[in-house]
Amino acid sequence: MDADVIVIGAGPAGCAAAIRLVQAGYRVIALERKDHEDSEDITSGEVLVPATQFECDALGLRFDGDWVLDRITGIRNVYPDLSWTYHPIPHSTCPVHVDRGGFNSALRKRLVEVGGQLVWNARVTDVEFRNDSAIARTADRSEVTARLIIDAGGRYAPSLRTLNLKSEDPEFSQIGVAVFFKSFEGTPLHTWDRHLYGVRGAMLSGSRIRPGLFRYILEADLAEKKTDHRGAIEFYESVAKQHDRWLHDRIMSEPRTGQQWSMAPLGYRVSAVARDRLILVGDAAGSLSPITGQGNEFAMRTGRLAAQAADRALRDGDLRADAFSIYVEGRKREVERQVDYVRAQLRILHDRDALMRASRDDNYRAQVFGPYGIPATERGSLIS
Ligand SMILES: Cc1cc2nc3c(=O)[nH]c(=O)nc-3n(C[C@H](O)[C@H](O)[C@H](O)COP(=O)(O)OP(=O)(O)OC[C@H]3O[C@@H](n4cnc5c(N)ncnc54)[C@H](O)[C@@H]3O)c2cc1C
Repeated sequence: MDADVIVIGAGPAGCAAAIRLVQAGYRVIALERKDHEDSEDITSGEVLVPATQFECDALGLRFDGDWVLDRITGIRNVYPDLSWTYHPIPHSTCPVHVDRGGFNSALRKRLVEVGGQLVWNARVTDVEFRNDSAIARTADRSEVTARLIIDAGGRYAPSLRTLNLKSEDPEFSQIGVAVFFKSFEGTPLHTWDRHLYGVRGAMLSGSRIRPGLFRYILEADLAEKKTDHRGAIEFYESVAKQHDRWLHDRIMSEPRTGQQWSMAPLGYRVSAVARDRLILVGDAAGSLSPITGQGNEFAMRTGRLAAQAADRALRDGDLRADAFSIYVEGRKREVERQVDYVRAQLRILHDRDALMRASRDDNYRAQVFGPYGIPATERGSLIS
């Protein structure tokens, strides 16, 4: 065996599992598709909620350095009539923007620091499971063998393809379109600016990520985009035009920068998150919707749960799927909580009347917005 455990992908989920297994005394090889650290990377997952920051603490990852960007200290909810409420977030629970390239790099440095072996330029193309071993094959035709594989390769993880585990999730089928700007007049700093329309599941939300870089993302029902027949950016602009004069004026006039992108469907299901000699973690184990901003939290939690299950199974010498039941059960508990939350959020994104009620009624708003239902301290309107 080359190692006790192969971890595919050195992102948040992979590092969270690998660091713990190395610390528990196992030989771990992390195989990473990329051939070097990313430079600044603002693609998805740059808002880290407090629970993600706690998961980082538990790994000994210090939350400093130039990859830590603007802190979000408040939320502005903009309602269908363009009235708004502002909600300060208690200091101890503020989300923070990060540069994903720098965040991943800090996690990988921590992995190497604790003694983990990280192999760059190792894109896993195939996995195989035998009675006595698990094998990962890479694009350069190398083979790595171990007792167990933890696949943390994200939404395109190799075992999803090889074992045909991924399918569509009709309930959580959204599109995300992101556009970046150098400036955005009127966006309050350190504020998550959420524009809620109550139709087509559409929400346009954004903030300043760092000086000179703003992003507004559209999340909407994928079915709506499919009937719209326009390109992703035209669809983005048309939603703003139809519902939000304030945002549309700025989207069309503020200087754009960087690479705009779109992604769909955002959610998908995975039929099995543990098999003989295999555990899937993070996005490789399924994805709901990014509207909660908890993807990295979830990735790191599942990495932690997988490391615990793997430790026990390796010690017992039993690496059959059944031996990973503590992982499957632990993950299920987390997912069920998230499913309820995402369902409730998506419901309100389709309900204009409910949003209008939320604009006026503090108690109702607190109920429907879950953890972000903080009381309003200011109110106003974007219609001058
Ligand atoms: C539109 C959008 C917005 C989001 N916003 C947020 C947010 O605000 N906050 C938040 O916390 N989350 C957010 N997320 C979710 C978040 O980005 C993911 O949940 C998180 O990155 C998952 O981490 P991971 O480690 O499972 O996978 P990834 O971060 O995808 O890491 C996978 C790693 O595996 C490597 N890899 C892939 N394939 C292979 C292979 N074949 N061989 C070897 N290596 C491989 C990759 O290079 C990468 O390093 C968002 C997602 C989307 C789509």
